[in-house]
Amino acid sequence: MSDLRTVVAEVLPDARADLERLVRIPSIWADPAHHDDTRRSAEAVAELARDAGAESVDVVAAEGGAPAVIAHWPGPEGTPTVLLYAHHDVQPTGGDEQWTSPPFEPTERDGRLYGRGAADDKAGVMLHLAVIRAFRSTGGLPVGVTLFIEGEEESGSPTLTALLAEHHERLAADVIIIADSGNPATDVPALTTSLRGLVDCTVEVSMLERPAHSGVYGGPVGDALTALCRLMATLHDDKGRVAVPGLVHNTSEAPDMDEATFRSDVALLDGVELIGTGTLVERLWQQPAIAVLGIDAPKVAEAANVLLPSARAAVSLRLAPGQDAAVAQRSLTEHLTGHAPWGAQVTVTPGAAAAPFELDAVGAVYDAARRTFTEAYGQSAVEIGIGGSIPFIGEFARAFPGAAVLVTGVGDPASRWHGIDESLHLGMFASATLAEALLLKELGDTNNP
Ligand SMILES: [Zn+2]
Repeated sequence: MSDLRTVVAEVLPDARADLERLVRIPSIWADPAHHDDTRRSAEAVAELARDAGAESVDVVAAEGGAPAVIAHWPGPEGTPTVLLYAHHDVQPTGGDEQWTSPPFEPTERDGRLYGRGAADDKAGVMLHLAVIRAFRSTGGLPVGVTLFIEGEEESGSPTLTALLAEHHERLAADVIIIADSGNPATDVPALTTSLRGLVDCTVEVSMLERPAHSGVYGGPVGDALTALCRLMATLHDDKGRVAVPGLVHNTSEAPDMDEATFRSDVALLDGVELIGTGTLVERLWQQPAIAVLGIDAPKVAEAANVLLPSARAAVSLRLAPGQDAAVAQRSLTEHLTGHAPWGAQVTVTPGAAAAPFELDAVGAVYDAARRTFTEAYGQSAVEIGIGGSIPFIGEFARAFPGAAVLVTGVGDPASRWHGIDESLHLGMFASATLAEALLLKELGDTNNP
């Protein structure tokens, strides 16, 4: 077998070209206008798996769910099966005109490939396929591989439980590698070991049966939008700490981030303060966070001189590891209904709920991952948390309790996941591909000496 490093380098140009092909498909499953695009995207992934010699390839969907791809490559007798996960759906663009180059026209600038999904998570899809191709050109995979490419991760994976139940046997694996996270720097590999959970809700504040003239009645009669703003203001204390009682807050020993770099990565304006207390790493990975994501109220240009009878807001609460999602949803609801200003009627409709997750990164598989990642990147692998949620991980760990779960990925702090000008660092993509190839080889060798 020729050197894996050389073989991986040889498959990268084609992988990058196919990544560009995938990025050109606007697979925004959350927008029904893009459902056909998401189906096209699943078909494109299935075709790439077929071309890579998969023994079986299927596009599957649960009732009402997005198309996912399941493909399988058998390994040598007696070797473990590794499930490789990524997702092919993407976030909405947030306004095409704000992008430096159009979001669905992949463009390279300064060693980065720009485009919606270029990092999150079509790079994950192509990372797995590039590894499979590298082994195919050297005589075959060292382990059995099942590729599972989901199509609704950015919508909170509503039908994932159903998919896992329906295809339980086909998805069963000894090791699960989830490529949907990132590294703290482009040359520092990481294993993600903690993820926050998420609950959200819609809260409606009602004050009047119908709009009332703001001049005739204003004074003794309040309006629902002001009441809603006052209610939203109770979600944090003056320091910006989450004020909903009964939530889990953890501390962390992890080395902290550099505040100036963090401020610049997130593009905070001059003079704007960070909120909350504790290290940045604690605030991002180990503490709850609350944000108001949207409000239903008249547009400024259409505002009339009336007291609004009701107003609604979407509220999102990120959960610290160790937090029970149902308890958090209840605490949030009780806080909102218990802080209604001026006797306003408050109705809370709970939305999505995803449990936080913490991995115990011990054992032979994690040791192999640390070794091979360090070898591929030339720097020691570190353990990190992420503030986001990947419902898939908890779901999969519950469905296959015996499997070792590794969370890796091809994002870096400059990738701007979900934001304007999302991009992939191409050098890191190469290191990540080599790291995963070395890991699969080692997993095969250990089990088949
Ligand atoms: Zn993702």
